[in-house]
Amino acid sequence: MSQRGIRPFSKEAILMDGQLFSTLLPNELRDLATAPMTATGAYRRAYEEPFNRRARWRLVRHAGPDKDGVTWWRCPFCAGLLRSRNFPRTMRRSVKAPLVILPTSQQRCCCGTVSAPPADLPLVQKIPFGTTAWRISMNRRMAVESVNAALKGGYVNVIRGFFRVFGLVKITALLGFTIAAVNLDRIRSHEAKLAEGQDQPARRKQRRVGTWQDMIGYLEEAPSLSAGPPG
Ligand SMILES: [Zn+2]
Repeated sequence: MSQRGIRPFSKEAILMDGQLFSTLLPNELRDLATAPMTATGAYRRAYEEPFNRRARWRLVRHAGPDKDGVTWWRCPFCAGLLRSRNFPRTMRRSVKAPLVILPTSQQRCCCGTVSAPPADLPLVQKIPFGTTAWRISMNRRMAVESVNAALKGGYVNVIRGFFRVFGLVKITALLGFTIAAVNLDRIRSHEAKLAEGQDQPARRKQRRVGTWQDMIGYLEEAPSLSAGPPG
C-alpha cells in the first residue's frame, strides 16, 4: 500500500500509516511488517501485536476540525494512553495505561498540542492501521459491503423497478421480507464458510450474524483500541 511508511511530520510528531505518533515511539515499533493476506489465527495475531502496542503511542485528537479542517492533537502521555515515571502526573492516571520506560534524560512528554492542517492528514483513520481492532473493523466493513452488493444485484436487485407497482407501505413490507431472505442466504453462506474452517473473530460466533441489527451496530460501534486479540 502506497500510504504505508514513515513520513516526517514535525519535530513534535511522526506521521506513519495515516496516523500521528509521539516522537518518543520506540525504534522497534517504527517499521512494522504487516501480516500476509493468508495469515490466520495465532500467526496473524503475532503480526498484530506490535501494531497494538504501537497504537498506544498515537496522538489523540483533542479538538477540531475547525472551519478550515485543522485538527489539534495531544501526546499519548497527556491523553492518558501511556504512563511514565519521567512524567509524574501521568502516574496518577489509570493503571490500565501501560507503564513505559524512557531515558531518564527525557523530562517532557511533548511541547503541547500539535495542530495539523487537513492536507497533512489525508489518510487519517479512526482505528490505527494493522491493529486487531482494525482487522475486526475491516471484516465488518466487508460484511456491510457484501450486504449492499447482495441487495443491489448479487442476490436481488432492489433498485431497478423491483417494487415499482406498489405503494410505500407495501414496498416497506416486501423489502422487509427481501432483507429477511437475504439474511437467511447470508447465514447459510456464513455457516458454510465456518464449515470450511475459515478463521473468524471468536466473539462473533456466539451471535446471530448478518442481521440488519448487526449491520447498524457495525457502523456505530468502533471496537476499543485497547482490546487485545479477541477471544
Ligand atoms: Zn504530552
